Amino acid sequence: YDKAVLILPDQINLNVWPEWIHDEKPLLILIESYPVHRTLPYHKKRLTYLLSSLRHFAVECSSNGFPVHYQSTDQHYDKVLKDILDGNKELALSFMNPSEWDSRERLQELRKKYENRVTKISNTFFFADPDDWKQKIEPGYRMEYFYRDMRKKTGYLMNGDEPEGGEWNYDENNRESLPSGYDIPEPTRFQPDDITLEVMEMVDEKFPDHFGKTDHFYYATSRKQAMELLDEFIDNRLDDFGPYEDAMASDEPLLFHSGLSPYMNNGLLLPWEICERAIEAYRENDEIPINSVEGLVRQILGWREFVHIYYEAMMPEVRDTNFMNFNESLPKMYWSGETRMHCMKQSLKPVIEQGYSHHIQRLMVLSNFSNLTKTDPRELNEWFRFAYVDAHEWVVLPNVLGMSTFADGGVLASKPYVSSGNYINKMSDYCKSCEYSISKKTGEDACPFNYLYWNFVDEQRDAFEESGRNSFMVNMYEKKSEENKEAIRNSTENFLEQLKRYKNS
Ligand code: SF4
Repeated sequence: YDKAVLILPDQINLNVWPEWIHDEKPLLILIESYPVHRTLPYHKKRLTYLLSSLRHFAVECSSNGFPVHYQSTDQHYDKVLKDILDGNKELALSFMNPSEWDSRERLQELRKKYENRVTKISNTFFFADPDDWKQKIEPGYRMEYFYRDMRKKTGYLMNGDEPEGGEWNYDENNRESLPSGYDIPEPTRFQPDDITLEVMEMVDEKFPDHFGKTDHFYYATSRKQAMELLDEFIDNRLDDFGPYEDAMASDEPLLFHSGLSPYMNNGLLLPWEICERAIEAYRENDEIPINSVEGLVRQILGWREFVHIYYEAMMPEVRDTNFMNFNESLPKMYWSGETRMHCMKQSLKPVIEQGYSHHIQRLMVLSNFSNLTKTDPRELNEWFRFAYVDAHEWVVLPNVLGMSTFADGGVLASKPYVSSGNYINKMSDYCKSCEYSISKKTGEDACPFNYLYWNFVDEQRDAFEESGRNSFMVNMYEKKSEENKEAIRNSTENFLEQLKRYKNS
C-alpha cells in the first residue's frame, strides 16, 4: 500500500470522509489501543459499545472492498502507527483531526516526526468549524446567539429570515411534568450478536475493575441498527419529546428522549441526519409540535455544537478550573448507587446499569447534588466521563465544568445550576417514594436538597450576584429568621459529615 487512513473509534462513518477515500480505497487502519481505554475506569458498557461498533465498522468496510488493518493492542496507537510507517517507507498516512485533545497531541507528534508522510484532514463530523467561532467564546457570549446564527446558516426551521412559528426558542413549553399513568413507549433493545459477545468477554477480562458490568448490553453497534433507533424515535417519541423534556419519572430513564447521543458521538449517526429527519417529520405530521422539533434541533445544532467550540477555545487550561474552590470528594453513592435519596438512586441506577441517564437527571439531580455538597467539579467531570456510554471529553467537560458546576466562573453559563427539592418534586414523582420528607426544610428527615440549597445560596452569594446586586435568591435567604438560618447551617453540617462517613445518606 502507498496510502493509509487512520480511523479513530469516534470517526466511524465514511460518509463524511473525503471523496478520494471512496475512490482510491486506501488501507484503513483501525486500532483498539487498550492503554487509551484505561486512562479512566470507563464503564464496561461504554468500552463494549465503542469497541464492538469499531469491529462492526471494520467488517462493513472490508465487505465494501476496503483493505483493513485492525489491531487490538496493549500499546498506544501512535506506537502502532510508527511501526507501520517504519515498516513501509513508501506509505503516506492521513488522519482526521481528533475531537479529543489528548489524541490530537499524540497525532501532532507523529506528524512532526514523519513530516510530509502524515497528513491531517479537517474534522467534518460537526456542523460548525470551531476555528470560525472560538474567538467569540467569552463571558456574555451565550449559546442562544450562536444557535440563531446556525439556524440562519442551515435554514433549519426558518421561513426566510424568520424563525418557524415566530419564535427562536419554545423552551417555556418544554417544562411539563409527566401526568401519572401516561403511556411511555418501550424502546428497542438489541440482543448482542457474536461480535458484541466476544467484545463483552474481552472487556471483562482486560478491564475487570472498571465501572459497571457488561451484562444486559442492548445498544446498537452498527449504522443499520442506529438508523432503526432514529426511525423509532421519530415515529414514537419525538411528539412528546418537547413537553416532557425536563420531566423525570421513577424507573423510566429514557422517557421521550432520543437516546441517540452515543451514536452521534462515535459517528454511527450524523447530527444533520437527526435534525433533518425530525424537521421532515414535523412538516409531514401535524401531531409533532414545534416545541418538540425546535427543542431537539436546539440540543443538537445549538448546545452540542456550542460545547464543541467552547472545548476548542478553552482547552487545556479549563481542565483545572474550580471557581468555587470546592474540594470534597465525589460522594461514594456515585459509584454504588446506594442512598436513601430516591431521586439520586433513580438517577444513578441507570448509569451504573447501562451507562445512561437523561439530560435533566444529569443536570438537576446529579450535578446539582455535587454542587450543593461542595464536591470538586473536576471529580464530577471525571465521573461523567467514565460512567456514561455517550461520554467524550469534548462534550462532557463543557457541560460539567462550564455549565452545571460553574467551575469556569461564568464563561459558559450565567449562574450555577442548583435548586432545592421543590424543583425535583415539581418535575418528577420521586419525592413520593423517598425516605426524606420534601415538605420539611431542616432537620434529620428533611429533604437534603432543601437545606443544602439555602446553605449554598448563603455561602456562594457572589455567584448569584446580578450586575453587582444581590440576586432574588440571596434576598430571599436574607429574609429568613436567624433561627432558621442556624437550622440550615446545622442540617447542612450534619448531612455533609454523614456523607463523608457514608452513613445513611
Ligand atoms: Fe430527592 Fe428530596 Fe425528593 Fe427525596 S425528598 S426524592 S431527596 S428531592
